[in-house]
Amino acid sequence: GKGLAVFTSGGDSQGMNAAVRSVVRMGIYLGCKVYFIREGYQGMVDGGDNIEEANWSSVSSIIHKGGTIIGSARCMDFIQREGRVKAAYNLVNRGITNLVVIGGDGSLTGANLFRQEWSSLLDELLENNKITKDQREKYKYLHIAGMVGSIDNDFCGTDMTIGTDSALHRIIEAIDAIVSTAYSHQRTFIMEVMGRHCGYLATVTALSSEADFVFIPESPPSVDWPDKLCDKLEQERKSGQRLNIIIVAEGAIDREGKPITAELVKKVVVDNLQQDTRITVLGHVQRGGSPSAFDRILGCRMGAEAVMALMEATPETEPCVVTLDGNQAVRLPLMECVRRTKAVAQAMADKNWDLAVQLRGRS
Ligand code: ADP
Repeated sequence: GKGLAVFTSGGDSQGMNAAVRSVVRMGIYLGCKVYFIREGYQGMVDGGDNIEEANWSSVSSIIHKGGTIIGSARCMDFIQREGRVKAAYNLVNRGITNLVVIGGDGSLTGANLFRQEWSSLLDELLENNKITKDQREKYKYLHIAGMVGSIDNDFCGTDMTIGTDSALHRIIEAIDAIVSTAYSHQRTFIMEVMGRHCGYLATVTALSSEADFVFIPESPPSVDWPDKLCDKLEQERKSGQRLNIIIVAEGAIDREGKPITAELVKKVVVDNLQQDTRITVLGHVQRGGSPSAFDRILGCRMGAEAVMALMEATPETEPCVVTLDGNQAVRLPLMECVRRTKAVAQAMADKNWDLAVQLRGRS
């Protein structure tokens, strides 16, 4: 059977295990020899026990677990060609020419580069007598399929990244708990949520928790936001509301690019309205815990599609990323999605927020 390996790289997210499970089982079902690579690219570079053959039962009882059971890591070695030569050696040695990468845009960029260099990496290994001529010929094509695991929903080309829905569940649960205590004491709560430069989590959270105000990176308020915020909070209290909820995305800024932090918002509320104000920073709670049904199914569907893409690949097939488009699993050119995602980051850095939102598309 064909050699196929799956690994998780970059930041973890809920639903990655469902994706790993699906890749392993679909791979075995289609007659592949399937391997786990532990600790992301680091395991690929280091080889040894990090690359382990998987079987049907090695992915039993993992679908409900958060994080990734095969580990994830950032890997400096893989950024250097020397590290990628070692990684290529470890794969060829086990007959692995199909890779499923589950990670963010950095991990997918690395995979694409690896694929572009594959021929020259094998040439180098052959020259140094690390592999045989037969191996050079037999394993001359590397196929790559990616999936995006991230709670931020910040990747272009997919409606939802694997992990976003679970993070929302976690956040909403926390806010519901806070709201009940805020009500009792007539308090104002400021909640900081994750998302890096993407306001998706903050926006959906605000809408589904009846928040009074939300700060997101894509729609920075003018510098007089403190007045608007205080007017709104005062108005709500006057109309009988006993509490206020303010959501702050971790990447929130004002029109001038100055960060709007939970601390800053608290100071504004306390100084102007003397409300009893508390901050809750959810932090890594958002990344932990069990995946939602949606993320489990999403991981399953993406994983199966990724394996099918690899099995159907021809030598000319470019690396793809499997994404969700209107509830359909689709294959998109990996590099095009990565380029668009990087263009969004650039537009945000240039303070061209409209362009960023436009480039990001539906997600
Ligand atoms: P994410 O995949 O979540 O965006 P990173 O950007 O940290 O996370 O990337 C994860 C890993 O992918 C890095 O530690 C590195 O090993 C690899 N990687 C990222 N960018 C590149 C690149 N340009 N070339 C080679 N490897 C890369």
